[in-house]
Amino acid sequence: MTITTEQWIELDGAQGEGGGQILRSALTLSMITGIPFRMTRIRARRSKPGLLRQHLTAVQAAQAICDANVTGAAISSGELHFRPGRIKGGDYQFAIGTAGSCTLVLQTVLPALWFADVASSLSVSGGTHNPMAPPADFLIRAWLPLVQRMGANCSLHLKRHGFFPAGGGEVTAQITPCQALSPLQLTERGTSRQLQAEAIIAGVPYSVAQRELDRVKAQMSYVDTKVRDAGGREGPGNALLITVMHDEVVEVFTGFGEKGVSAEKVANQAAEAARHYIASGVAVGEHLADQLVLPMALAGGGSFTTHVQSSHLTTNLSVIEKFLPVETNMTQCDNGTWLVTIS
Ligand code: AMP
Repeated sequence: MTITTEQWIELDGAQGEGGGQILRSALTLSMITGIPFRMTRIRARRSKPGLLRQHLTAVQAAQAICDANVTGAAISSGELHFRPGRIKGGDYQFAIGTAGSCTLVLQTVLPALWFADVASSLSVSGGTHNPMAPPADFLIRAWLPLVQRMGANCSLHLKRHGFFPAGGGEVTAQITPCQALSPLQLTERGTSRQLQAEAIIAGVPYSVAQRELDRVKAQMSYVDTKVRDAGGREGPGNALLITVMHDEVVEVFTGFGEKGVSAEKVANQAAEAARHYIASGVAVGEHLADQLVLPMALAGGGSFTTHVQSSHLTTNLSVIEKFLPVETNMTQCDNGTWLVTIS
């Protein structure tokens, strides 16, 4: 999909959501299309703007994988110039060095490696279950099966959990290149298969997991429950995952344990998001929606129903349209839900 052009794309990192996703999507799309970009006001709408460790690692990973010429790759930098070279498959290891999200770094570079010349293996260390980012389980259960259905030959493995603030987790990926992705239509979620609540504890008392699961059971019927004890060495940390499985799509809603926040509150956070999704009848929840549009655009098309028009979603669509010759549309249905189409 290489487009030869000397035209640089100019991006304002403060547009729309104004967070790290604008940068990560630009890196992915630049690597794949070969189009260089300049970005100013990186993450301007965040309390600590500019590049943090996670974003800098994503830039460095993208640079290493496609031999890019880069200026502005430094902590706190608000401006970046990125001129990609050719994507090279191979074995790569990236360490964020903090609890910054491994999954967001992976999502930045995986799509490029889907189209590399040879197979790749990738290891990213840092945080695996971070608030404000997709937990590794979300990537593995919800996002990965859908990109595999589009044709990506890729597997993901959670090797070690990493929680804020200690980090120390690791996610690995194995990728075999493919020629192209195929469009995916996800307007129906299909028949319900299973509802599961899983409390992850690492160096946190078992009673925390039990209280979280009791709270979910009090709010949701027919829920299977499970405790995953990752052991003290991978902690301290706690997260509660609610996995909603349908024939066409799996969704994961997460509550993140935090010092000073009760187990019941963590459970409520996840259960509320899951109940909202279940009641809406749509195929794709809020977070999966904004993470699905880039692979769909790379596939040249796709569609899905969702229940939230988030600013992550609208901002990501506008970044994608700058790099790829696709048209994106969001149409509101009579019941207030949304149909997103990419063509
Ligand atoms: P940004 O805030 O721009 O760095 O982007 C954060 C990304 O993390 C977006 O793609 C969000 O949809 C995603 N995200 C945040 N929280 C969750 C969550 N609980 N589950 C899945 N994805 C999430």
